[in-house]
Amino acid sequence: MNLGRIGLKIQGPLPLRPLNPLPHAPAVLVVAGTHGNERNAPWLLRHWQQQPEALASAGMALELVIGNPAAYASNQRYLDRDLNRCFQPALLADPSTTSLELERARQLLARHGPGGERPCSVVFDLHSTTSAMGNCLVVYGRRPADLALAAAIQARLGLPVYLHEADAAQRGFLVERWPCGLVIEVGPVPQGVVQATICRQTQLALEAGLAALAEARLGQLRLPDSLTVHRHLGSLDLPRDGEGRPLACIHPQRQHRDWRAIQPGDPLFLDPDGHCLTYVPPVQAAAAAGSDAVPVFINEAAYGEKGIALSLTQRERLAVQPQWAQELAALAAGLGAPL
Ligand SMILES: [Zn+2]
Repeated sequence: MNLGRIGLKIQGPLPLRPLNPLPHAPAVLVVAGTHGNERNAPWLLRHWQQQPEALASAGMALELVIGNPAAYASNQRYLDRDLNRCFQPALLADPSTTSLELERARQLLARHGPGGERPCSVVFDLHSTTSAMGNCLVVYGRRPADLALAAAIQARLGLPVYLHEADAAQRGFLVERWPCGLVIEVGPVPQGVVQATICRQTQLALEAGLAALAEARLGQLRLPDSLTVHRHLGSLDLPRDGEGRPLACIHPQRQHRDWRAIQPGDPLFLDPDGHCLTYVPPVQAAAAAGSDAVPVFINEAAYGEKGIALSLTQRERLAVQPQWAQELAALAAGLGAPL
């Protein structure tokens, strides 16, 4: 059978294609499994791929992507290096530096970056944590559109916001390479485990974000007067011996107490003999937060290798600026609808 001739008969003359077809309108990128042993979001994402109506997308065009498929396949956070520290411009641009995750970062940008094959201008990066962070958002730096989106989600769901900034030791986060992007972080859940509550919280936060973007696209987003953030001050490691072995673990009175203020003298670590080591504010935290430091990511399993037993933050209320909503609206106005 000559399929070509049959096709020509049915279709008639081939339509002329424009030489430069219009590019895709930017979509919203939803990434799950940036860390391959965080299983809840990828489990949801597979479900949404099969049943798009299971996610209330508020009419936004989405690109649903597994961040690190190789690490996901082996149920490890990463294989060569942490994908969520690979998005440093100098690292991405250096052809002499390569690893599985760095190549994946370049690939994600080529496919779904703002100038990519299927461009996206907003990204939600879905993570889970072994820390008792509840359902929360992580914002990297103070880009107005990010702050607007975080404020809109906080107004809907009351989620706490961890503002990560000014930490030279932790850089190269995925969301920073898109014009607007947040991390949705939910815990506690063990690595490698799917739990219904964690999935539900993840979906609620994502749907709140998509609803906010839909309103922003219509120029109808109303933001609250203020955004409460927990501003990153620095991180504390466990006490260690000369060879780097931990001498103590998180004190049981501090375990699972993320977002609760810590005072000088409060129990912080416990050594194997049962001796309590109390909290002594590091210089920068004491100067910045006085006695009101608020720990987050307490005993996160993946941060042991980074020398982080917890991070300290200061709770601050930021006045919402008109520019925030304006920048988010300008970005959202260009977002596409589902095909
Ligand atoms: Zn993660």
